[in-house]
Amino acid sequence: MTPILPTRACRNHPARPGLGVCPSCSSVVCEECSIRVDGILHCRACQVSAVAAPDRPRWRSLSAVLPALVLLPVAWGAVTLLLQGLAGALALVGSWLREAG
Ligand SMILES: [Zn+2]
Ligand SMILES: [Zn+2]
Repeated sequence: MTPILPTRACRNHPARPGLGVCPSCSSVVCEECSIRVDGILHCRACQVSAVAAPDRPRWRSLSAVLPALVLLPVAWGAVTLLLQGLAGALALVGSWLREAG
């Protein structure tokens, strides 16, 4: 026979009554120790771990790498064009100097 307690205290603050139960770790938390995410109450520890470990970390890292893979050749092409333009300008200046001298 397990007696059902009318009010359960916060796991961090035994003197305070619990506001709700975290669905992840089923620990009772008071208002100060809880965070609402999309209207669902979580304890702060689980909210932090939920943010640190997203549901699809592979896709997130891939979506972070993909723009870099696309941008790298574009950036390289831009640098090459810039260098070619610079070399052309230097050759032009050199020919001008030869004509002047
Ligand atoms: Zn929790
Ligand atoms: Zn608390």
